[in-house]
Amino acid sequence: MSVLVYISTPNGHISKSAIEAVYYGSQIGEVTALANGNVSKDDLANLGKYGAKNVLLHASETEDPSQLSKMIQKAATSASADTIILSYDLIGKAIAPRVSAGMKAGYVPGATTLPDANGLIKTNVFSGKAKGLVKVNTPKRIIGLTPNSIPLVEGNDVATVTDFSEEIGNSSITIKEIKKQEGDILLTEADLVVSAGRGLKGPENWGMVEDLAKTLGAATACSRPVADIGWRPHHEHVGQTGIAIRPNLYIAAGISGAIQHLAGVNQSKTIVVINTDPEAPFFKAADYGVIGDAFEVLPALNEAIKNFKA
Ligand code: FAD
Repeated sequence: MSVLVYISTPNGHISKSAIEAVYYGSQIGEVTALANGNVSKDDLANLGKYGAKNVLLHASETEDPSQLSKMIQKAATSASADTIILSYDLIGKAIAPRVSAGMKAGYVPGATTLPDANGLIKTNVFSGKAKGLVKVNTPKRIIGLTPNSIPLVEGNDVATVTDFSEEIGNSSITIKEIKKQEGDILLTEADLVVSAGRGLKGPENWGMVEDLAKTLGAATACSRPVADIGWRPHHEHVGQTGIAIRPNLYIAAGISGAIQHLAGVNQSKTIVVINTDPEAPFFKAADYGVIGDAFEVLPALNEAIKNFKA
């Protein structure tokens, strides 16, 4: 079976979720990966460690999902791929339905397991609150792999990287501005996340969130109203209408735990909630709960971790 995996390369860096998609694909068949933009060929060759045999590199730096969809369809044809895998992240979610429509191929969004012997794939549905079992009966299929669903195993192989120069047409959209996330740790890839909500009262109080995140080496996140009011940038907003994350540790301070917030974070491995209200719904989803004032707990936690590390 031949598999094509689309590799997203934010800021020229191969995302962890793309590496997971390559490894996942290698458990299904022979993987050809496709990347575009300004990304190192050595880094692409290293995808061999995760099972890619070949990598196609398209010079276009487009971020237009329509053009990327065309690029993927042409690469899938060139690799005779019957399974196309993308990460089920913001970029993948924008591209995959277009590829699915273009190739008349069934789409499995939010896959969390490999296909079983009958071709059934487990998926997250209703924002992760339930599981689905999906099988597509079209000759070709598209799979959107939920980030952090599968453990990676690293080998020693090196992939062959070749240039791929198929025509992808002009962009039908005008991108006026691309806001890149500041800071070193991408929220979508972070293992540890410190997040806060309206309980912090104002943007001037975020120093204690950032301090704790810095001590832990964590990314920062926030609830939607906090981003809507402009206390924090929109790319930090997690939840149903924001980014869905699955870190190993999610610390939430001053967030009530509304269902729409939980939809984006309830797949976190360990959830720690800090809230003054013992009835806050978030405590029901928490592994550890601290009934207390974030203004006291966050700095105390930071100091304790610093002392522990020293
Ligand atoms: P609040 O609900 O105001 O909660 C603040 C919490 O802080 C309270 O629990 C309070 O007890 C606690 N608190 C107060 N002071 C302190 C203190 N000193 N120390 C510790 N705790 C304190 N929300 C999202 O987050 N993400 C989404 O993607 C999202 N999508 C939505 C989509 C739709 C269609 C709708 C209708 C809503 C959506 N929402 C989303 C909004 C969601 O319903 C909640 O309104 C929102 O999550 C609440 O944000 P919050 O917890 O920061 O604020």
